[in-house]
Amino acid sequence: MKKMVYSLTPDELTAAVADLGQPRYRADQVRQWLYGKRVTAWDAMTNLPRDLRESLAGRFALERPAPVERQVSRDGTRKFLFALADGATIESVIIPMADHATFCISSQVGCAMACRFCATARGGLVRNLETGEIILQVLSLMDDLRDDPLPNVTAGHPNVVFMGMGEPLDNLDAVARSIGIMLDPRGLGLSRRRVRISTSGPGPGLRSLLASDLDVGLTLSLGGADDSARKAVMPVPGRTSVREVLDLAERYGKRTGRRGTVAWVLIAGRTDTPEQAEALGRLLARRPFKVNLIPLNPLDDDALQPAGHADTLAFQAILKRHGVDAFIRASGGRDIAAACGQLRRRRLG
Ligand code: SAH
Repeated sequence: MKKMVYSLTPDELTAAVADLGQPRYRADQVRQWLYGKRVTAWDAMTNLPRDLRESLAGRFALERPAPVERQVSRDGTRKFLFALADGATIESVIIPMADHATFCISSQVGCAMACRFCATARGGLVRNLETGEIILQVLSLMDDLRDDPLPNVTAGHPNVVFMGMGEPLDNLDAVARSIGIMLDPRGLGLSRRRVRISTSGPGPGLRSLLASDLDVGLTLSLGGADDSARKAVMPVPGRTSVREVLDLAERYGKRTGRRGTVAWVLIAGRTDTPEQAEALGRLLARRPFKVNLIPLNPLDDDALQPAGHADTLAFQAILKRHGVDAFIRASGGRDIAAACGQLRRRRLG
């Protein structure tokens, strides 16, 4: 199979064009077509000589899959299912915000983390995504916004969060390369402030992230305020202690100059108890994190239920009493199965 052109970093694309005996500005032209105009056929690159178009077409694929499903929620959330070249399917979501769109993208087909509340976890890990498969999600969502605009939103300047399918730190090489393309002015040219990795916090992945030169935002999905509570809902990431996970995330926040976020899924009777809130409050009282409280988006086949409204407010109040900034986040698109991995799962049956 041909390599995807979207997997190439801007420097690699320059080298590939140079290998074909072409001057440097030709690579700029190709990038302009790929990331500016976002064409999906080599022949559309009309300012390139025909023989260069043919040579590139012989080496690199730039077709992008059309979504096999596109659903729009009552709240405006758009959910996409893409079928990749090998038939594997992944989900991406556009979440409309007041003045921008947030793109929620996938980093893996499936996931190995086995979180009890997550639909993606049910099928296990199928494979990692390639760099280009991550980039094509962003490009395709930009195209969707161009064709069907949202009020007050520019298609080319989304926020991008790795909160779709998969554990990004388990596929850090491709994730880091794709972020490089997103941030490079010769690529998508996004500000690093607009990009965020969300992780369940496997220790080895967090250590690699800390050692890397990435400086995007970080959200840590915690799931429990002590080791046994965390392990009960997040068995694989729970192999690393809560203390170590928070230490690593805090060090990453110091290195990047950005306060981290802790994401906390509120599951009735499990993660929404006053005891967990007190423990979480004590844990975070002197640490530089804010907390997003997310009521569980229940799965079709699961006994786990979302926390009630009163318990959610009580949980938030306890955190605030400890001096911790805590926000309640509505999970969008409930009517279209927009919780992590739900659309694909419904389709797989
Ligand atoms: N593996 C990464 C990214 C994917 S999950 C991570 O764990 O962060 C992205 C977010 O969705 C996480 O905060 C996770 O806790 C949350 N999530 C997963 N399933 C959910 C569900 N059923 N309801 C609400 N939030 C869910």
